[in-house]
Amino acid sequence: MILVSACLMGHRVRYDGRHSRCDQVRGLLAGEPVLALCPEVLGGLGTPRPPARFVGACFGREGEDLLAGRARLVNDQGRDVSLAFAQGARVAAELCARHGVRLALLKDRSPSCGWDPEGVNPQGGPGQGVLAALLRQMGITVREVRSGARGERR
Ligand code: SF4
Repeated sequence: MILVSACLMGHRVRYDGRHSRCDQVRGLLAGEPVLALCPEVLGGLGTPRPPARFVGACFGREGEDLLAGRARLVNDQGRDVSLAFAQGARVAAELCARHGVRLALLKDRSPSCGWDPEGVNPQGGPGQGVLAALLRQMGITVREVRSGARGERR
């Protein structure tokens, strides 16, 4: 079973109410069954929702810092949404464990799904989203999918 960020599969769950469908993902699935989840929706955040940014986190370990209480996620209305992000990531991780997920294909530049610990994505974004941090702790392989790549549809 492969976990895929739901927005990459065409689900309209992004903060702005759109999706990030990516044809590149289909090639990576190779016929494997898919679990498509959005941790932010699972955390009770609505769609659309205000975008959120990490505060007080070290680049490359933002998700770990948030889960350990060393950092927060604050939306652009000034509301601390750390608990919702953490809760959504934990629910998603639990579902992954239940379904035997070994690989996660996660959308880039997301405070939940992002995975770019070396900071090589030219479009920027956090180095480690909250869900990415949890999945790595569970031994699940995480791969970043650059949603600005050819094939994205809005
Ligand atoms: S990147 Fe992750 S958290 Fe953001 S909309 Fe897609 S699935 Fe949801």
